[in-house]
Parts: sequence; structure tokens; C-alpha cells
Amino acid sequence: MEKMPESQTAEVPEIVRAPEIRLIAFTEFSHPEDVPWETDTPVASEKLIEYAGRMCYQSWSNPAGRTNREYIANMLDHGHLSVIEHASASFSIRGVSRSCTHELVRHRHFSFSQVSQRYVSEEDSRMVEPDCIAEDPECHRIFVEAVTKAREAYRELYERLAGKFEDVESRTLRRKLARQAARSVLPNAVETALVMTGNFRAWRHFIRMRANEHADVEIRAVAVEICRQLQQLSPAVFGDFTISALEDGTEVASTHYIYE
Ligand SMILES: Cc1cc2nc3c(=O)[nH]c(=O)nc-3n(C[C@H](O)[C@H](O)[C@H](O)COP(=O)(O)OP(=O)(O)OC[C@H]3O[C@@H](n4cnc5c(N)ncnc54)[C@H](O)[C@@H]3O)c2cc1C
Repeated sequence: MEKMPESQTAEVPEIVRAPEIRLIAFTEFSHPEDVPWETDTPVASEKLIEYAGRMCYQSWSNPAGRTNREYIANMLDHGHLSVIEHASASFSIRGVSRSCTHELVRHRHFSFSQVSQRYVSEEDSRMVEPDCIAEDPECHRIFVEAVTKAREAYRELYERLAGKFEDVESRTLRRKLARQAARSVLPNAVETALVMTGNFRAWRHFIRMRANEHADVEIRAVAVEICRQLQQLSPAVFGDFTISALEDGTEVASTHYIYE
């Protein structure tokens, strides 16, 4: 019987089309009892930012009678941005490609913890397909064929390399040696997951750079969604960003501030 071409027998990877972004940690605030100051925001991170600002000038009595939102807007207007560095947020991000996370990790003021391709098997990895490929039947066919073949090559290489390293006593090390070499054939499209933590100044900069129309569509979707979630959590710090749709239906977020 004629042997089936590899790509027809291989299992097709599950396709992912959108990132999944969940807030997993957010700043809390403990008001020192001996500091005679009150504010009108219920948001801990916004209290902390105002507290840090008032610490600079020892202006606990709020002589200007500003609301918290006005206070923070004044800080942003003057570029007094170190105060927003005290508040931070952590997101758990899934459903993004390795090419997207390669761009994410260029932002140096964040902390990252990403799935290890040396310790975790990619045998059942999902693939992130860009919309413009998914929406075109011929492009979609080419994509599916390529990622199926690549993952199959990974599986075969892993099997062979695991055999090659069978004399290595430690099972964990044996697998690591095989996976770290086999992963070389995985495509940019392979899905990954990470935790990304940053302070509000870093998040503002990230959103301005990556929710911009010049950024790649995938990282832009991540940045816009993070902007949306941060706007809900801290309107005083992220409320100046406007989210709007481009002609192609994708979204951007922009602000009138240019210093970030
Ligand atoms: C549309 C677009 C296209 C891009 N294309 C490419 C590309 O083709 N090739 C490529 O390699 N990269 C590319 N990048 C990535 C880009 O060059 C930056 O590495 C990335 O956006 C991180 O942003 P950042 O440089 O502002 O630094 P971040 O790490 O986000 O730091 C934030 C800010 O801190 C300051 N800062 C941080 N580190 C330093 C430092 N060492 N010295 C001085 N100031 C510092 C800067 O003011 C910086 O803006 C692209 C980015 C975008 C948005």
C-alpha cells in the first residue's frame, strides 16, 4: 500500500485565534494611621500614587481641594511619573505566539515568567493563526500544513533524541536535552503562556508603544486588552487612553501624552 504523505497522517494542531489575558495581581494599600490624609478614590493603587505624591510635598491637608483623579492628572500633566511606578499589575497571558512574546520581552521594565520549552513538552502545542491567514482559505491551508509538519518534526526529533540520550541517568535531564534541541523546528506560531508584571509607568509606556497602529496586530491586541482592563481598574491613571477601531476592524489605543 502507498505510504500516506506525513502531513496527511499527522495530527493537526489546535488553532488559537485570540489572546486570553487575566489580571492576577494588583496593588494593595495600607494607610498609615498617623498620617492625617483622606482621599476620595476606592482604588488602592490610586491611593498609593496620591500618597506618594503628597509625601514629596508633605501636602496632607489637600490645600487645593483636589479629587484623587485631579491629583493624578496633575502628576501626569507635569511628567512627575515616578509616583505611578509604585502601583503595579500582573497579568496571566495565554493564547499568544512565541513571536508575540519575543516582542513583549523587549520591554525591560517588566518581570516575566514564561513556559519553558526545555521542561514542558510541545508535542501537543497549539498554534496561533493570524486573522488575515485564517480568513483566506488558501493561506489557511498553507498555514495548517506548515504547522502540522513542524510539530510532527518536533515529535519525531524528540523521540529520536530521547533514544540518543537514554544513557543519561536523570529522566528530567534526558527529556530536557531532547526537548531543547527538538524545539529548534517549532514555528513562531507556537502558543506560549507567561506572567507579566509591571508598574503603571511601564504599562503606560507599553500601551503607548504597542497599542499603536504601527505595532504588530497580535501584540496590539494584547496591549489594547490590557489597556481596557487597566482602565477599569484604575481610571485615574489609564483613563486618558482612547480605544478606537481602525478600518480593518482591529483596535488601537492612544493618548495625548507624548513623554512615555
Ligand atoms: C512599531 C515597532 C517596530 C519595531 N521594530 C523593531 C525592529 O525591527 N527590530 C528591533 O530590534 N526592535 C523593534 N522594535 C522594538 C523597539 O526597538 C524596542 O526595543 C521596544 O519597543 C521596547 O521599547 P523601548 O525601547 O521604549 O524600551 P523599554 O524597555 O520598554 O523601556 C522603556 C523606556 O525606558 C528607557 N530605557 C530603557 N532601557 C534603557 C536603556 N538601556 N538606556 C536608555 N533608556 C532606556 C527608555 O526611555 C525606554 O523608552 C519595534 C517596536 C515597535 C513599537
